[in-house]
Amino acid sequence: MSSSPGTLGSLKDRNRLRIVDVLRRSGTASRVELVRATGLSRTTVSKLVGELQASGLIVERQAASGDGGQVGRPAIALALNPRSGGVVGIDFGHDLVRVAVADLSGGVLAEGRSAFDVDGDPAGAIDVAVELVHAALGDAESDLDRTVGVGVAVSAPIVRTPEAPAGAHILPGWPELPPLEELEARLGRPVIVDNDANLGALAEVRDGAARGARNVLYVMLSGGIGAGLILDGRLVRGHRGITGELGHVVLDPNGPICRCGNRGCIETVASGPALLAAMRPLRGPAFTVEDATRAARDGDDGARRLFADAGRTVGQAVGAICNLVNPELVVVGGDMALAGDVLVDAVRDGIALAAIPAIRDDARVIPAQLGDRAEVLGAIGLVLAETETEALAVMAPAS
Ligand SMILES: [Zn+2]
Repeated sequence: MSSSPGTLGSLKDRNRLRIVDVLRRSGTASRVELVRATGLSRTTVSKLVGELQASGLIVERQAASGDGGQVGRPAIALALNPRSGGVVGIDFGHDLVRVAVADLSGGVLAEGRSAFDVDGDPAGAIDVAVELVHAALGDAESDLDRTVGVGVAVSAPIVRTPEAPAGAHILPGWPELPPLEELEARLGRPVIVDNDANLGALAEVRDGAARGARNVLYVMLSGGIGAGLILDGRLVRGHRGITGELGHVVLDPNGPICRCGNRGCIETVASGPALLAAMRPLRGPAFTVEDATRAARDGDDGARRLFADAGRTVGQAVGAICNLVNPELVVVGGDMALAGDVLVDAVRDGIALAAIPAIRDDARVIPAQLGDRAEVLGAIGLVLAETETEALAVMAPAS
């Protein structure tokens, strides 16, 4: 599941995929619009559209009245056939499993979530995920036979090596990864996996707050803290795929031991668990991050102070990264971001303390748009981006 273009098959497949991708993004497009959007010739577009129609993957739609406002025959609108297949996304957080089912344009048809101690019981998390997938497919009136693939977001670094290009390993000290081979066996569909912050970044660039931006730092504040880095329009994966471990920037080499084995990492003071450790003595053991974000939005001084401190701490580390990569946007996401402006403003203040003025003034700091769904939507986007058109065509209903 490398992101290199080689995985997309032959040039012809890539061209077909470009057409499919335009339809995914725009919903509908005429042949002329496809020519413009893909840069392919009219003849090529006509031929490939014909093939895709014959395979049942795309269909003609009634053009909206007044579409284009042109005199004469209205252009025929083409769209992906929503019945030709679907995609499943699963997000394994530290303490939550979230599932979404989408059509081939990425439009979400059904969703489900369940609080679960994923870190403590990775095998049990698979049971929960399988149950949620079946329920969501039922709600979407779809099934696994029509599912082209399953994208999975995990809260762990995914290390890619030549022996394990799909990224099966994690680093010492991280909670055990859910057994994804078992997930693949039980669902009977191909599973592809990536780090949750990477997928959140992809989703925000594709459909959220960073649409159209090419240099983006996505900061995910949740049970863990991570970053997804999009530079020159591409997700940066580094040498072995372990980029964006923002939560493990060390603040205090003598601080508390972190799950990564180091001391005084940002996660030990600014993550969801660190926040709860500060709040629970006052609010009781059942107090959750969701309760904390609600309290902050409702003006609770203690909760607001905690989110402000967390934001400023993270912001300073982000500011140092901004000095290195000069992003146009810093997008603040993850479930802690549901606290609202208090967190985003504090991240901005932290960046201002650490980034040089020219870079600070250039980087807009904005809240994520997809909220705590970004990671599961990114998992769906990953499948759509990496699934070959041929595989999609196989799923098309017989006509
Ligand atoms: Zn750490």
